[in-house]
Amino acid sequence: MRKYSLELLIGFFPVLLLFLIYMGVNVLPFVFLAVIAAAVLYTAQGRGKLTALTGGKSRNEVKAAPFSFDQIGGQERAKEELVEALDFLVKRDKIEKLGIRPLKGILLAGPPGTGKTLLAKAAAHYTDSIYLAASGSEFVEMYVGVGAGRVRDLFKEARTKAKKAGKSSAVIFIDEIEVIGGKRDGGQHREYDQTLNQLLTEMDGIHANESPRILLIAATNRKEMLDGALLRPGRFDRHIGVELPDKKGRQHILSIHAANKPLEDSVSLERLAEQTYSFSGAQLESVMNEAAIYAMREACELIAERHFLMAIDKVMLGEKTDRETSEEERRRVALHELGHAIMAELVRPGSVSQVALSPRGGALGYVRHQPQQDQYLYTKPFLNGQIRITLAGAAAEEMFYGDRSTGSRGDFDQAVNIVKTLVESGLTSLGIIHASMMTPESWAAITKEVLDEQMLAAKALLEERRDIFAAALETLLKEESLDGETFRRLMRSGEAA
Ligand code: ATP
Repeated sequence: MRKYSLELLIGFFPVLLLFLIYMGVNVLPFVFLAVIAAAVLYTAQGRGKLTALTGGKSRNEVKAAPFSFDQIGGQERAKEELVEALDFLVKRDKIEKLGIRPLKGILLAGPPGTGKTLLAKAAAHYTDSIYLAASGSEFVEMYVGVGAGRVRDLFKEARTKAKKAGKSSAVIFIDEIEVIGGKRDGGQHREYDQTLNQLLTEMDGIHANESPRILLIAATNRKEMLDGALLRPGRFDRHIGVELPDKKGRQHILSIHAANKPLEDSVSLERLAEQTYSFSGAQLESVMNEAAIYAMREACELIAERHFLMAIDKVMLGEKTDRETSEEERRRVALHELGHAIMAELVRPGSVSQVALSPRGGALGYVRHQPQQDQYLYTKPFLNGQIRITLAGAAAEEMFYGDRSTGSRGDFDQAVNIVKTLVESGLTSLGIIHASMMTPESWAAITKEVLDEQMLAAKALLEERRDIFAAALETLLKEESLDGETFRRLMRSGEAA
């Protein structure tokens, strides 16, 4: 309509001029005025275009290539649950017939990098919706009311964009929802409260028969932090767990990211899936990428298994560093790592796959273990064995130097975490107990009790095997890295000595 009125105006103006000339009127001042008016109009329109490109075009709207559920590896259960929930949007007449209340919010909860954003994108594709994404931290402002305003704008924008694109629904994805949806504690964070209130108000304003329909999908790594008001029925009442992938899931994710990469025939994705126990989807993507980079560095046309092994080490432990270490330091690190490796073989024979002295990430050396079976239940002996493996580095240093070094800090963190699991699972001398009943002093006491006991056991076991240290130390210092088989051979020769 606006376009036509402009054309009419452009057509009408010359006719008017001709008429005035015919009447003998001096038209020069009119022409002059018209030129100025046109110039002003043109500039204003230009500025309008600029706004549309910067301020006007939403930074939230993501116009990526359509993303489908097939492009997400593993997560079969999460996908199924999500699709079932989305069918509420897709099969509207059915749910109306049954009088089911519309679904307003879906909460995806799980560790970082497991594909929550991907699931939200696929949800938008599946429901043929507009997709808008924002992160909780974008709503955090110093000034009261600004965050709330942004929430309002986001919903408004979703409705306008969907209408403009002729879609009947819009998916709004809010990552890190805990930043705005954290538990309210009565007046201290007024800004956060207002933002959350606005979000709740907007959610309450979503109706079954409104068009376009809005579906809110939020993601969090910390579901326990969310305010109850956000989780109650009628708000985010569908909770879908997006967990770390199991072996089959890892293989699937690896195959998705391998699709555009030339791999050597001998590369087995199944074996890589075994080697990447407890990796997230994002870490697996990184393994694929890093392996390709290693292949490029070596000027190889195909990516080989060794590139993957290097990539796994890099993702797990960080890039190799050029840190210069003194001879004395290297010897200490070697004894420390041998301690871990010997204990790992005692606890789980055949489990060491590499002992290395090369500095990587924050560590000066490391022991790589054979992939474990995916396991979800752990017994007390298993966890005690894990503690002995983590403490064995420090135990070895004490055996040979009479003291410990800062190199064991990370090991102790791990050991303390295992003690926490033992306590919370009722597997310590405290019996069955809830963590809320523990004071810092009781935590300290039980941690000391468990760690002292396992440290004593570790030292006793290693002390009996001093000869193995002697047999393996010089080779490790010379070679810098021993594979599992070589290490076990040295261990056997040390035991025989
Ligand atoms: P965060 O909680 O940190 O926001 P997230 O769970 O939203 O993480 P995504 O952003 O979805 O994780 O995933 C990051 C990247 O990891 C993706 O771009 C993709 O390359 C890869 N990825 C993660 N999970 C999967 C998966 N299940 N299938 C395929 N790729 C995945």
